[in-house]
Amino acid sequence: MTDIARRVQNLPPYLFARIEQLIEQKKSEGVDVISLGIGDPDEPTPEHICREAARQINVRENHQYPSSAGMLAYRSAVADWYARRFGVWVDPKNEVVSLIGSKEGIAHISWCFVDPGDTVLVPDPGYPVYAGGTILAGGNIHCLPLLPENDYLPRLEDIPSDTARKAKILFLNYPNNPTAAVTREGFFDEVVRFAREYDILVCHDAAYIDVSFEGYRPPSFLEIQGAKEVGIEFGSVSKPYNMTGWRCGWAVGNKHAIEVLGRLKSNIDSGVFQAVQYAAIAGLNGSQQCVSRINGVYRKRRDMALAALGEIGWDITPTKATFYLWLKVPKGFTSESFAEHLIDRAGVVVTPGTGYGNYGAGYFRISLTLSDALLQEALKRLKSTLGRVSF
Ligand SMILES: *Cc1c(COP(=O)(O)O)cnc(C)c1O
Repeated sequence: MTDIARRVQNLPPYLFARIEQLIEQKKSEGVDVISLGIGDPDEPTPEHICREAARQINVRENHQYPSSAGMLAYRSAVADWYARRFGVWVDPKNEVVSLIGSKEGIAHISWCFVDPGDTVLVPDPGYPVYAGGTILAGGNIHCLPLLPENDYLPRLEDIPSDTARKAKILFLNYPNNPTAAVTREGFFDEVVRFAREYDILVCHDAAYIDVSFEGYRPPSFLEIQGAKEVGIEFGSVSKPYNMTGWRCGWAVGNKHAIEVLGRLKSNIDSGVFQAVQYAAIAGLNGSQQCVSRINGVYRKRRDMALAALGEIGWDITPTKATFYLWLKVPKGFTSESFAEHLIDRAGVVVTPGTGYGNYGAGYFRISLTLSDALLQEALKRLKSTLGRVSF
């Protein structure tokens, strides 16, 4: 067999191999393993969205190749949603491109702007695709530590200026996976100034912009004056409308960056199935009651988890957004050993923080995307296995 290309060899090893193995072993022993590990909405896609997709499946024109950039109707629905939701105006003709889920665009953006040897600023802990796309493009990763004492925001002033000068892209993600942190007033303004000074493309991953609680409304990066000159924002219907399986997202913002991403993509894929684009339009243009309802479900689960974890010894500030909780590992454990301990003793899967980068060490993530009953059962098991923890 031919050798594997270096760009693929250079991808980080799959970190969860040992945990997967343990899960399989437990299952074969007859344990009903409960996973708090996967960030994938458990509830179905809202009915009105499915109905529109079913209708569009029978329309002949939808059976052919879609346009690579997305139907204008789709791009207009995204632009209208930005206007309504954030008061941000983007031109659907040249400031919006469709994506096969935002993950696809995040992975490809480095191919557009990063040459071998260029630097990319990557938050750590962070969604692994920022690093993966950078490695595939031959770029060098400069980690931006996200630390609790900085509310999980990177300190731009700590980036050495020679590194900043070599940087082509800055990835950001608020509300944040895995930490559930949100941005603070003024931070995005600092980002715009920084990106201007060093000529860096800001890529804001807004996957969780519509997953929030108790009236908190996460801002769009594009709300900031000058943001469109330096950046783009990624989003999708996956998280707010329970549509992770449909693969439909967008990038919005800087005209040049959107054009280049579209140009690259037209050489790789042929767009998103039009029936799926129509389903996404139905989601974006329809009543947003389904989003509030889904957020209500996560909020209730968050409160269940906070109460139970509080009894075990975790003192957690209630999260404002995302369906994750980012928790400290108890004394005597590493991220991995704690995750293994929980599978072994409780039949409960959590994600070790190191899966998101070196700065995730000492933490683990749980996801609230499982039924109330299963979550309750998992929490009960944690309590009986752990008793009371200290740090
Ligand atoms: C889920 C997720 C995405 C990608 O979602 P798509 O389904 O590809 O749109 C992007 N970023 C983060 C941080 C996520 O958690």
